[in-house]
Amino acid sequence: MDFEKYLKIISDSYYGYFHYLVNEMFYPSWHNYFWWLLGMSIAVWLLEIFVPWRKDQAIFRKDFWLDGFYMFFNYFLFSLIAYNAISNVAVEVFNDFLGLFGVENTVALHIDTWPRWSQFLLLFILADFIQWNVHVMLHRVPALWEFHKVHHSVEQMGFAAHLRFHWMETIIYKTVQYIPLAMIGFGLEDFFIVHIFTTTIGHLNHANLRLTYGPLKYILNNPIMHLWHHVKALPKDRKYGVNYGITLSIWDYLFGTNYIPNEGRDEPLGFDGMEDFPKTFWQQVSYPFVKVKNRDAGSQKIEKSPVNNKEYSNEKESA
Ligand SMILES: [Zn+2]
Ligand SMILES: [Zn+2]
Repeated sequence: MDFEKYLKIISDSYYGYFHYLVNEMFYPSWHNYFWWLLGMSIAVWLLEIFVPWRKDQAIFRKDFWLDGFYMFFNYFLFSLIAYNAISNVAVEVFNDFLGLFGVENTVALHIDTWPRWSQFLLLFILADFIQWNVHVMLHRVPALWEFHKVHHSVEQMGFAAHLRFHWMETIIYKTVQYIPLAMIGFGLEDFFIVHIFTTTIGHLNHANLRLTYGPLKYILNNPIMHLWHHVKALPKDRKYGVNYGITLSIWDYLFGTNYIPNEGRDEPLGFDGMEDFPKTFWQQVSYPFVKVKNRDAGSQKIEKSPVNNKEYSNEKESA
């Protein structure tokens, strides 16, 4: 094994990503995730302020700042700290591993001769279907559910709740997507428009807005449908969950996991046992590891930290 090569990949990843991030922040352009995320967040927030669905919900709703931090962390910082280096090394290890068997190229289907728009469409539909399956597994596999609980600990929906999730989800989603997408020659980085579109729909899915997009609701996920995904009281025969859609709702209609009994505007959100779920960023991201460790030690009890870091919790509810 050529460890020097891997070390160089790690240092190049950090160096490259750091420069990318600084560039993103200080040089706004149309092809820039940082400013798109910021602009889009403000746009959806303004809609929430001017045409709210739950009119009594505070503009700085419960956990607004916690979710804002998650948004920045998951979209940018996690990549800076770890993901970029981990994934670049993993891709190289994967290719080296295939090289041992004389496989030089994983591309099984050549779509680079297709029109650009059809490449976008195929990537979008395929990635969304893979993500739908991963999301179902996050609910059905007990160890994965411990990580996914972070996203389901949202009690009041607003645009920033979209990116409140455990960083482990980034690793799980990207790993599962990597092999099938690489086989048709896709690199996720090239698809800026797809990424901006799915992020916008994700923001809207969590927003305090009464939106369904009319007949398009059978294709696109929407705030009413996704609210039911977060509802605490699940129907008896659907104990794992309902409405698993990410950007597209069509998979739920095809596989019978759709459930919208009514608009559900004021339904309580969360999961059973939420009272014991930690409230701060660091406690939430370490929770699944502590829980698994305790389970291995034959104890289900979670030690409650006496330190309650108020920095990221927004208990003051400024309106
Ligand atoms: Zn979920
Ligand atoms: Zn959600």
